Amino acid sequence: MTSRIHAELDFDRNGKQTGFLRIPHSVHRSAYGWLPMPAVCVRNGNGPRVLILAGNHGDEYEGQVAICKLARNLEPDLIRGRVVMLPMANYPAALAGRRTSPVDGGNLNRSFPGDANGTMTQMIAHFIEEVLIRDCDLMIDIHSGGSSLDYVPSVQAQFEPDGGLSSSLNELVEAFAAPFTQVYMTGSEDRMSESAARRKGALYFTTELGGAGTVTTEALRLAEHGIIRTLHTFGCLQGLPIETPEPPPTRYVEVRGDEHFVYASEDGVFEPLVALGDEVSAGQPAAAMYFPETPWREPVIEPFRSNGIVLCERTMARSRRGDCLFHLGEDWSG
Ligand SMILES: [Zn+2]
Repeated sequence: MTSRIHAELDFDRNGKQTGFLRIPHSVHRSAYGWLPMPAVCVRNGNGPRVLILAGNHGDEYEGQVAICKLARNLEPDLIRGRVVMLPMANYPAALAGRRTSPVDGGNLNRSFPGDANGTMTQMIAHFIEEVLIRDCDLMIDIHSGGSSLDYVPSVQAQFEPDGGLSSSLNELVEAFAAPFTQVYMTGSEDRMSESAARRKGALYFTTELGGAGTVTTEALRLAEHGIIRTLHTFGCLQGLPIETPEPPPTRYVEVRGDEHFVYASEDGVFEPLVALGDEVSAGQPAAAMYFPETPWREPVIEPFRSNGIVLCERTMARSRRGDCLFHLGEDWSG
């Protein structure tokens, strides 16, 4: 099915193009209107084709700013092949600074492979998978914790079925060089951008650079430098448009299933009892849940169920049963 999203850019043309992907949006105030999803394409002949997304979740900002900088710095003579950048991949969500779209409630990263005739978020997912990922060799999807979570600066990459990272992917995540590289087993979830890349045969990694609905200097530098080092290692960037310092080696951590996650078991306000980056052990208290509605009630202690390193922490104190408070990773030797 052909996409109903019309690209003002011709992704096969050499040079630098900026413009909009026009998402049809016929509403009361604009019968024939479209929403302008910004895109940048820099191409110099044949070579590696890279797709960089940010704003897949609209309240994750590090990648959005990094792409703004890269979009202005990257010129065709610096590269070989093609770099396509979408700073606001779920455009209505990014415009609103929300994880999900205010138009249809859609979470883009739970919407792949999408639907050309579906809701707006499904249309966007379909365009990204069938037009952009289909035609790329490497996809980098820049995420962070968004409004509700904060992360130690990390890359996330998936295991190959034989239990390791493919050697080419390994080289790329080492080039990105986040302090942590979280490796995880591909699960049953097939609606994420990672699954889209796998379906289309593109190399892929994502990031969790920080979060809390903000941009820190540290996370932003990592996004900027990490993307540039990765493009260079992938053979797409011939020179370095900005100075990138030599990073320390990344620490590999494995994130498994439920035993690495701590969820609120009741509605309440939580006090974190550990900090990001702490080493913890199974049974150790992770959080104390308080109940201001009945302040005389004993707090509930939420324990860790595994040893590990605290990679992720909930930022919003008021929590409901089922909200993720923490997740861990354990050192991974490959
Ligand atoms: Zn995200």
